[in-house]
Formats: sequence, structure tokens, C-alpha cells
Amino acid sequence: MNIKNMYITKNRPYTKRTKTTKIAVHYIGNPNTSAEANRNYFNHNDNDVSSNYIIGLNGEIICCIPDEEVAWCTCQANSCSVSIENCHPDSTGKLNSKTYGSLVELCVYLCKKYKLNENDLIRHYDVTGKVCPKGFVPKNKGGSDDNNNTTWKKFKSDVKAALNTSAVSSSSVKKLYRIRKSWSDAKSQIGAYSSLDNAKKACTAGYIVYDWNGKPVYSKSAAALNKGDKVKVKTGAKDYSGGGLASFVYKNTYTVLEISGNRVVIGINGAVTAAVHKSNIIKV
Ligand SMILES: [Zn+2]
Repeated sequence: MNIKNMYITKNRPYTKRTKTTKIAVHYIGNPNTSAEANRNYFNHNDNDVSSNYIIGLNGEIICCIPDEEVAWCTCQANSCSVSIENCHPDSTGKLNSKTYGSLVELCVYLCKKYKLNENDLIRHYDVTGKVCPKGFVPKNKGGSDDNNNTTWKKFKSDVKAALNTSAVSSSSVKKLYRIRKSWSDAKSQIGAYSSLDNAKKACTAGYIVYDWNGKPVYSKSAAALNKGDKVKVKTGAKDYSGGGLASFVYKNTYTVLEISGNRVVIGINGAVTAAVHKSNIIKV
């Protein structure tokens, strides 16, 4: 979902809502006009009308007023609801599939943000009886939905389904720290740990530790090694020229005395212990 912030300065009271308990759905009422044109109208009219969001015919989402702030859209519900205006191709007010898809996504996003669910979705019609959004108001009330509110009910159930799906998928992601060259390069993974400390220990130069959302949380870039750094030598590593190292070397912590290219000289209190390849050094 891509939200474009194009904040308006007119018809914007700059009042933060103290509570947000509803999401109010509207339709523009002006067939075949774009989200941006309607946003610009909000920014120029003298009629005290605006909206938090407008969704266009291509599914584009424009945020006119941050959703924490009051917009002048849903009358007495302005102080408790985020408002969403929808563009529509014709006078039936029915939404095309792109606008509809973005509306579901935006409602899911707002439900999660404000801890709401599909039962907190309202129509302008529910607040004032206005035929808005026309596609979600029953025919016998002047809208173009059927008299059983099938389209409106379907919309709420679509939001509910999307909320449930995203809840399941986020909880089923195993919370592991994965070590990769880059997040998208899953094949480069050299380990996955539930403990960040263990992941850091296993992370070698050129690799990055990512959390389960793909956010880099730790890296051991080769360039980051500096003279004076405290380091350990990877268990089993050879010295720089390929010779064996005494087993105690893997247990001690050393100081980097000198770095030249990939050759790192380590020691204790200024006394050289060994020269090893940078890739065998673990920063501690
Ligand atoms: Zn409305």
C-alpha cells in the first residue's frame, strides 16, 4: 500500500483527535474525477469540507490530513473517526476494483493502527442518513446497494478476512535472527538464531544479522575492524599463512595491533600472538 501525503492547509482545523474509534467511508459524489483534483478542491473551497484520505480511480491513496487529526467530513463523527473519500467512475457511486482494493487495504492499516475491527467501519449514511457512500447505501434509501446491504456487508467481511490473514501471517513468522549477506539473498544465510547474542557471535565479516522483519540489526563489516578493537579468533581458524594455532588462542580475547589488507595482527598487551585472516576475526 502506498500512501501519498499531500497535506492541505485549508479546511483543516489542525485538531488532534483525542480518541479514534471509527473509520468512516464516503464517496466523492462527482463521477470520474481524480483523487488529486478532489484533494485540491479541499484545499481551495470555502465550504468547510475535507477528508483525511481520498482514494482515486487507479487505487492511489492521498492523505490530505494526517489521520490523527480531525477532518470536516462526517459531521458529528468527525471527532472520533478517520474519514476516507472514494472516487468512482459513474453516478451509481459503485467503486471500481482498484479503488475498492485500496479501500480494504487502507481500512486494514487503520484498524491495526487504532486497534479497531470491521465492526468499527461506518458509512456517512450511518451518521446522518446522507446517501453516502452511494454504492454502500441500500436502494430503498436512495443508494445503489441492494436492500440487504450485500455490498456493504461484503466490504466489511473483506476487511475482516484481510485483518485475520495478516494477523496469522505475522504471528507465524518465526522470530529468528538470520545471518545473510543481504535480506533478499536468502541463499547466503549462514545461520538463524532465536538469541541475538548468538547470532552476533556467528556473524562474520561481510554478513548482516536481520530480525524476522528483515530489518538489519547488526553487521560485521570487514571495514569496521580497527586497530585497538577487542577480538576473538574463530575456533579452528589457521594463522594467516595457513599454519595451525594453539588451542588456547581460540579462547582468549586479543587486541588488534595492526591491519594490512586482510592480514590482522593480534596480541595481548602489545605482544604479538599471531597474524590471521580478517574473516577469521570476531569482534567482541
Ligand atoms: Zn460522505
